[in-house]
Amino acid sequence: MKKKLFIPGPVEVSADVFAAMSSPMIGHRMPEYAQLHASVTGQLQTLLHTQEPVFLSTSSAFGIMEGAVRNLVQKRCANFGNGAFSAKWHDVTKRCGLEADLFSAEWGQPITPELVDEALSSGKYDAMTLVHNETSTGVMSPLASIAEVVKKYPEVSFIVDTVSSMTAVPIDFSVLGLDVCLAGVQKAFGLPPGLAVCAVSRKALDKAKTTPNRGYYFDFEEFEINDLKHNTPSTPCISLIYGMDAQLKKMFTEGLQNRYERHACMAKMTRDWVISQGFEIFAAEGYASQTLTSVLNSRNVDLEKIKKQAGERGFAMDNGYGKIKNKTFRIPHMADMTAADMQEYFAVLEELMPPQK
Ligand SMILES: *Cc1c(COP(=O)(O)O)cnc(C)c1O
Repeated sequence: MKKKLFIPGPVEVSADVFAAMSSPMIGHRMPEYAQLHASVTGQLQTLLHTQEPVFLSTSSAFGIMEGAVRNLVQKRCANFGNGAFSAKWHDVTKRCGLEADLFSAEWGQPITPELVDEALSSGKYDAMTLVHNETSTGVMSPLASIAEVVKKYPEVSFIVDTVSSMTAVPIDFSVLGLDVCLAGVQKAFGLPPGLAVCAVSRKALDKAKTTPNRGYYFDFEEFEINDLKHNTPSTPCISLIYGMDAQLKKMFTEGLQNRYERHACMAKMTRDWVISQGFEIFAAEGYASQTLTSVLNSRNVDLEKIKKQAGERGFAMDNGYGKIKNKTFRIPHMADMTAADMQEYFAVLEELMPPQK
């Protein structure tokens, strides 16, 4: 049975995107591909408010997350971790044979500008990784105030994962002074998995050229040389890029501001619903994500059972991630979802939850 996805990725994909993905195949060295590529990267530059290149990587997000550290860590990397994805990035950095330290905040807490300042002030680092929106905990760290601090350290490459926030909140790549801003497309973009996008600053591109052992598949220099010709180093997921082109056009038709407001509105209604049901928000006050809500299971309901029953009704539910599985559950509100979808899902959960005491 088809289940409507209420998990924080992959998310539901609309029929018109699937239709665009069944466009007839073309060769990636044909002019038709260059046209498609230019259309997509141009729209991504508009989305991110930048003239810097945005690369299309045929991989999931972790491919380009690994690529970013391989291209930009020459000395030592500061990985900031407040959840599963950010902690894993530290592991990935070390597995690439790079020097790295993890600076942690408790799960549920944001990465703060103070923590970043303290870490970078040691002078030990030439790169840092930050996950803007920790999908495992539903916490959105304050990117703008962190960016202000990072500006004091121009020698540090500022690498940011916006997998579950890009397109849902404004991200002004150049004003923030980011060096890398990346996202996989199966979350806030609302596309099937298999493609990642990655904006890279001129400064980072120049630095990458001097970094040894950056491999081939995710080498920024290879990406840049090919991107100048509206192309990719190796064969890209062309069908998915057709889907991306259609999805971006829809975003601009909706209007970015309207899209951001729709996400803010769904986030607020979800948090209100959570409180009305006698649960608590897992994220620290003021840092709850705009794209998913992690709910503290303060009523101790049997989430495995509710998830199974929701499944039988045609809804795929999430019951938490990693070490907070079943202690929390996550409600996504991103991509093409609307207030009506949220209401529909709340009604299902209300029916399945035991009565409130
Ligand atoms: C889902 C997610 C990832 C991992 O993405 P993959 O596409 O599975 O590689 C990384 N970071 C964040 C914040 C995510 O939500």
